[in-house]
Amino acid sequence: MSWFSFDAVPDAVRTEAELRSFLEALDRRLEAIGAARARLDWSRKRGEPYDGPPPEAIDAALDDVYSELHHDRLRRGRDLASDPLLRRSVHVLDNAFTLARIDQGNELRCALREIADLYMSWRPTLDGDDLSYTRMTAILRGEPDRGLRQRAWESVAALGALLDAPTREMFYLRNDAARALGHATYGDLRLKIDGVTREWLTGLVHQMETTTGPEYASYLRSQADAAGIEAVEPWDVQYLYDRDPWPRAELFPADRLIDNTLNCAEALCLPARELGIRIFWYDSPYGGEWTRITQDDLRILTNRGDGLIYYHTAYHEYGHALHDWHNHQPYSLRRESSMFSEGMAQLWALFVHYPSWLRRSGVPDDEIARYRRTRRLPWMYRHRRICTDVLAELAVWDDPSANLDEVYGRTTARFLGCAAWPRPFAATPRWVRAMQMQSYFIADLISTQTHAYLRRTFPPVFGRPEVVAHLRKHYWEPGNSVAWLEKVRRCTGRALSYDDLAAEMTQPLPDG
Ligand SMILES: [Zn+2]
Repeated sequence: MSWFSFDAVPDAVRTEAELRSFLEALDRRLEAIGAARARLDWSRKRGEPYDGPPPEAIDAALDDVYSELHHDRLRRGRDLASDPLLRRSVHVLDNAFTLARIDQGNELRCALREIADLYMSWRPTLDGDDLSYTRMTAILRGEPDRGLRQRAWESVAALGALLDAPTREMFYLRNDAARALGHATYGDLRLKIDGVTREWLTGLVHQMETTTGPEYASYLRSQADAAGIEAVEPWDVQYLYDRDPWPRAELFPADRLIDNTLNCAEALCLPARELGIRIFWYDSPYGGEWTRITQDDLRILTNRGDGLIYYHTAYHEYGHALHDWHNHQPYSLRRESSMFSEGMAQLWALFVHYPSWLRRSGVPDDEIARYRRTRRLPWMYRHRRICTDVLAELAVWDDPSANLDEVYGRTTARFLGCAAWPRPFAATPRWVRAMQMQSYFIADLISTQTHAYLRRTFPPVFGRPEVVAHLRKHYWEPGNSVAWLEKVRRCTGRALSYDDLAAEMTQPLPDG
């Protein structure tokens, strides 16, 4: 049975008008297939009934779009485009074809499906009981019993063992394909498609490492001394770093999280309760997720817990949804570099940390004053943890036959200052999305640089409709019709750099 019925894709592209209708036909197909995939994923995550196309039919429909024939036609049509927007569409789609066609190989597809299914269905256990991801994070951040923290840390080792073979396979196969196209590794290919280079990325990592190094090490040592820990192990780091600097968790109760998220958006002059962006509770290994069912049906899944960290995650997902909600570009131009997309999420999440908003959320002044001085500490930890994964992943792309646990352990010790006793490399629930980790680091560069601009230009940011108007104009509405680094330049008046983040990592939290 045929699940999708589409009008024919024009079979000749001889003029600019024909090229345009060809792209429109591809976009209509990708849009419909994307919507089917979103419904399928939603029903699997939520255990809800689903009567749409099965995964095989979705893959087959995608293969039909991303065919060699279409790719050739697209490339031959490139020279017909005089309209810059049309040229941009061809460029973006050409990259999408390249990545999609790499993943069409049968072995690679099997490996990717195995990895994705395991991530979705596998759940950790602790001392014989199921362990939710929400609880695992709570233990690693706040459990004084060191043995319990260690067992929670090690609970994902079993997933690592299951994932080792398909993950390694995925690295090999994608590398082979990227090398056949003339790239050093698949990792380098992905960076090139995102408009950056490995040198650019590692240069920023290095700036982060030197800027945060001294304070990171001294705070870790003082916390370890206070806790009576002589040699810091991997399951100690989050406990020592990601607990005391935060405001008290009871000031951010889970049952006020959804209201607070919507209230903040309204305080920034967005009609949040009319947008149709809905928030649902979930237990995600990522803390939160979001999905677009249709343009006006956007859904957020977020973990339920008390504390600013949970609010931050909900705001983060809300930022993704706002970005997507305001982006009415054709399907191919809606998808952007994950560095930029995560930047839009982190940018929104930063609003929850403003002292002026904390005050309106009911946080007492003395607690806010303390948090202004400590807020950079968990951020340092966050960036160093992310860069552990970034450099480890690049090393894996360089040589998937290396002892990957050892590589991962070495970077853990370098950035986090703990013993090199890592989780198995495959257990990090991130490799499933290749070259994704740097996005969370770059996202904070985009976010802080943009906020610094907004505070300078539209003070105070709350209650100023210009803030959202500026984001809409420069970031949300253009989609991928403008390259993301250029969007950052236009929005903030200068090229993306580590400067504003460096300032936040050395000074008290600014207000706006
Ligand atoms: Zn995100």
